Amino acid sequence: MDHFLYRDGALYAEDVPISEIAAAVGTPFYVYSTATLLRHFKLFDDALDGMDHLVCYAMKAASNQAILKTLAQAGAGMDVVSGGEYQRAKAAGVPGEKIVFSGVGKTADEIRAALTGGIRQFNVESEPEMEVINAVALELGMVAPITVRVNPDVDAKTHAKIATGKSENKFGIPISRASEVYARAASLPGLEVIGIDVHIGSQLTELEPFELAYTKVAELTEQLRAEGHNIRRLDLGGGLGIPYTRSNDAPPLPVEYGALIKKTLGHLGCEIEIEPGRLIAGNAGLMVSRVIYVKSGEDRDFLILDGAMNDLIRPAMYEAYHDIVAVQEPKAGVEQQPYDIVGPVCESGDTFAKGRNMPPLEPGDLIAFRSAGAYGAVMASEYNSRPLIPEVLVHEDQFAVIRERPSFDEIINRDTIPTWL
Ligand SMILES: *Cc1c(COP(=O)(O)O)cnc(C)c1O
Repeated sequence: MDHFLYRDGALYAEDVPISEIAAAVGTPFYVYSTATLLRHFKLFDDALDGMDHLVCYAMKAASNQAILKTLAQAGAGMDVVSGGEYQRAKAAGVPGEKIVFSGVGKTADEIRAALTGGIRQFNVESEPEMEVINAVALELGMVAPITVRVNPDVDAKTHAKIATGKSENKFGIPISRASEVYARAASLPGLEVIGIDVHIGSQLTELEPFELAYTKVAELTEQLRAEGHNIRRLDLGGGLGIPYTRSNDAPPLPVEYGALIKKTLGHLGCEIEIEPGRLIAGNAGLMVSRVIYVKSGEDRDFLILDGAMNDLIRPAMYEAYHDIVAVQEPKAGVEQQPYDIVGPVCESGDTFAKGRNMPPLEPGDLIAFRSAGAYGAVMASEYNSRPLIPEVLVHEDQFAVIRERPSFDEIINRDTIPTWL
């Protein structure tokens, strides 16, 4: 459920008409709903009720400061995957003890910054990285809390580009080698082993892969405890999928996911961390765009938008499907017609949808891409010198621009000319 609904024939974000935002900020833009962000966070928080837990929002999904602040004020921790994300979380007021550092390629500088600024734990992804964290901690006279990310070799049954828990993926260490790696970690004086981490992929639409992975984590917890490690925290990653279409085969709900966690891991008495990103932000955001031209081709009609693949890359990158709706609600009984919906970028890949049934549209009409809040704005680029599009946050009847559209001068002036020119 989200808070983007039609009212009196027009699409709203909470209590604000989308057309009003478009008039104020221009198109294209992203718009997020505070109520939806908070609702999704609370679904996870409530799903783990009764267990010692922390929901660490995977901020790579959508990392605007205003979004982070909204979630942090509700009690969320953050899962970061780079030094930049760490700084963003700190800048939004998240205390170090609520920030988890994931990612396969943490540099010594990033590790140093996080240790100095405060960190809940590092999720270690490899043995060489473990040695570097140890060395940096010793150099600072500190002890770094760590979990080791294990790769359970489970098929997440999701798109290949976002599956991470099979042995051929670059993530984590093979679960079969955990014993050895934990023994090494325990021998390093700059590290304190506190738990186990796992994350098998994104946009999972079934619980079964989670169940397989978490069952392996439960067995590993008992085994490592028997080997003398004080395993007291389990980080279970993110990955729960969202409905991108309004069909019936909706992914499992957070409450069902929470019940699975309790069933597979509840008996261990560990503190539980989860790292949802997509499910918190995905359906909390729209990308709004305007039709520039309607072009009749030989065998099809094209809707040419002012939004493009550089603004929302998911269809080009993951063959992703987004519901696309007219901001002006179609009149009842209006006949839909198929369009290829494309952006202006000079690539055939700049196609959002083919043969998509839409009400008849004209130049100037506004349309909205639903489910665009996660992996949307954060993956945008300025390809074709198209400025990064603004982000807007709605809260009840208020809205605010939370990232401005840069001017062409700002974009050009980021370049510098060498002295010989
Ligand atoms: C991407 C990622 C997440 C979030 O995944 P979602 O599918 O957005 O919930 C969580 N943890 C790690 C380590 C990730 O890389």
